[in-house]
Amino acid sequence: MEEVVKEETRICLYPFLSAASKHVEESGVTLEDLISSAVFERARLRGKERIIEAIKGGAVRKPAIISNAQAEMELLSYPCARILVSCIGDDYLIRRYALSEAKSAHEKILASTGSSSDIIYALSEEFGIRVDFLRLPHEREQEQVQMPFVDYLRFAANLRDKRWKLVNRGLEKGRVKLRKSEFVRIIQEAIYERIKKDLPLDVPADICEAISRYTVDIKKELEEKRKKFGDAGFESGSGFLVKDPSCFPPCISYILSNLKEGVNVPHTARFAVTAFLLNMGLTENEIIETYKNSPDFDEDRTRYQVEHIAGDTGSVRYTAPSCATMRTYGNCVGNDEICEKVSHPLSYYKWKLKLEMKRKKELPGKSKSGEKDQ
Ligand code: SF4
Repeated sequence: MEEVVKEETRICLYPFLSAASKHVEESGVTLEDLISSAVFERARLRGKERIIEAIKGGAVRKPAIISNAQAEMELLSYPCARILVSCIGDDYLIRRYALSEAKSAHEKILASTGSSSDIIYALSEEFGIRVDFLRLPHEREQEQVQMPFVDYLRFAANLRDKRWKLVNRGLEKGRVKLRKSEFVRIIQEAIYERIKKDLPLDVPADICEAISRYTVDIKKELEEKRKKFGDAGFESGSGFLVKDPSCFPPCISYILSNLKEGVNVPHTARFAVTAFLLNMGLTENEIIETYKNSPDFDEDRTRYQVEHIAGDTGSVRYTAPSCATMRTYGNCVGNDEICEKVSHPLSYYKWKLKLEMKRKKELPGKSKSGEKDQ
């Protein structure tokens, strides 16, 4: 009996596993049951809760499982959440939800691998990664892992920090060496890709209608989050003029919108946007805020990088890269009439700001001083 609870617990804590979908399929629960039967109300509510936890805190809570019945509801709440997310069909929500599930699984794996590597073996197998554990001298635990570099490249592609670059890893006979905790981070990427892969599901409109009482609450939370994020976006503590980000050049707006939407942004683009915002007068904390939705957000690491670009760590204070450099790294996305006249994103901003101020002064009903005509 204890064994059964153990297996149920494992699949409900990692509901993206193929064993979990097989279990749901074999349980005989139909889609209709799941969306309308009173028996599954708890699963639907927990499904909604999973998404709200993702929106609010960027993580999905892993409850303590004490019975098979609870494990069953927890497991079924995962397909419910996927249906709800699909009915809303918002790209940002899909990424945030998938990332939150993956991050929570990552935490859970790290917490349960102290004394055993079983779950890591199981997940490696699940994602088709051939992994070897290396026993280090004087270490009781198997702390290092080796994996084929092709698998490494597949899953580490979105990890932007330098330490993940293949040239910075030990490569031996086609295999990459990682610490066990680093390998668990790679597993997080694999989980994220799996969860996001088929979303949004093609859910018929009548089903979305039938569960609209849950989606309404989720949409409200999402709206709140967007408002909060937007408001905190670019208000400089120094009161700099950048409160009007509509004057930002297309390249910077594009990077910022990707960061806001949780898209993984290349290192060169992160450098450009950080230097640009520092040059605009935003504080380091305000800039760190803009990274909070990034899939690989790590506050300490981001702070270190922002401080480095700001020159706080003894290095020079960097200026935002020129248009030529932006083009070289594929970060120039715009080609409007101001872009044609400038050679630097900061010049774009100043130019556009001047035009905007002129336009506002010339608006009907405004005098030259900018005051409303009486
Ligand atoms: S031309 Fe310059 S300012 Fe315009 S999008 Fe490209 S890099 Fe940015």
